[in-house]
Amino acid sequence: MTSNPRIYLSPPHMGGIEMSHIQEAFDTNWISTVGPQINEFENRLQQYCQRQYAAVFSSGTSAIHLALRILGVAEGDRVICQSFTFAGTAYPIAYQNAVPVFVDSELDTWNLDPNYLEDAIVNLQKQGKKKPKAIMPVHLYGMPYMVNEVKEIAERFEIPIIEDAAEALGSIYQGKPCGSFGEMSILSFNGNKIITTSGGGALLSNSEEWNNKAKFLSTQARDPAPHYQHSEIGFNYRLGNVNAAIGLGQMDVLASRIERRRAIYDIYHSELSGFEGVKFQPEVAGVESNRWLTCILTRDNEMREKIRLSLEENNIESRPLWKAMHLQPVFAEADYFGSSRSESLFQKGLCLPSGSNMSGSDIERTISIIKKACQ
Ligand SMILES: *Cc1c(COP(=O)(O)O)cnc(C)c1O
Repeated sequence: MTSNPRIYLSPPHMGGIEMSHIQEAFDTNWISTVGPQINEFENRLQQYCQRQYAAVFSSGTSAIHLALRILGVAEGDRVICQSFTFAGTAYPIAYQNAVPVFVDSELDTWNLDPNYLEDAIVNLQKQGKKKPKAIMPVHLYGMPYMVNEVKEIAERFEIPIIEDAAEALGSIYQGKPCGSFGEMSILSFNGNKIITTSGGGALLSNSEEWNNKAKFLSTQARDPAPHYQHSEIGFNYRLGNVNAAIGLGQMDVLASRIERRRAIYDIYHSELSGFEGVKFQPEVAGVESNRWLTCILTRDNEMREKIRLSLEENNIESRPLWKAMHLQPVFAEADYFGSSRSESLFQKGLCLPSGSNMSGSDIERTISIIKKACQ
């Protein structure tokens, strides 16, 4: 161990103005789950993502759970989910006692493969199974999935999309922001995301009915009555106003956060792309990733581990790419359509420290260790 301070993968990065919004919330005593900061944060998100409605919740995972509830996903229903993702995408399917059907990624964006997606739908049809209730593609690491191709299939089979944009706030696909592409779309403001509210999430849509339903379910499903009356099971999922105040301040610096993350990617790329056995997640034409995390693919698992362990020895955090859901013990029984692509991404891939508050010398330190490990 060196005495160098630890470099984290993606720590929170406050801009300074958050405190004034928090002070405002305190001064007016809007401390709980109602308040002007919540309303304003929702307005900012809805405008930024070019949606008609946004509602904020305690996490991205809870936003996904609400989306599934609203679509009526219930016990035994099937939901198609990108396998190569964080567990937060898939868990809510289990919360509903529904059945996940996992689909592999393509290698251009590392996200949901349209061909395997179609295979999955057609195959379930042939087996005489009920049509899946939703499709959940993910913009992993900020990289937009093949939006047009996935949408075409979803529309042809009339299955709604829940777009997991948890990692992709600020990413752009053919001129439009991520978060604008699903029937419903979700964001996360967890501490490691591009902006944070400490913890939090949002559900975006163009449906007033869905938006109201999401807020209703997230505040314990109270019927309109002077007493507490409940005709439906609710949740305590609403975001607090103090957290929303942090989010408001973070929205002001979002553009500079994206700029910095993209610049960090560019530095890694120019310093490391010459090394044999190191590849980067490319940007296809018409796409701009927020570069939430810079990821590399190495030659094999041995090389990946060598780099990861060298970084750790030098007090630098890095992380293997997501382990696909169909490889997880909890989802071992689930249907899977695809080949070994997401497994190979997991074996060879590494997320590098990418926080927007990384200093130039942090980046240099990280790069020099990776270079040594590659030699
Ligand atoms: C972070 C994340 C989530 C869940 O968000 P939380 O706010 O942590 O609950 C869902 N999907 C993906 C891809 C994520 O990265």
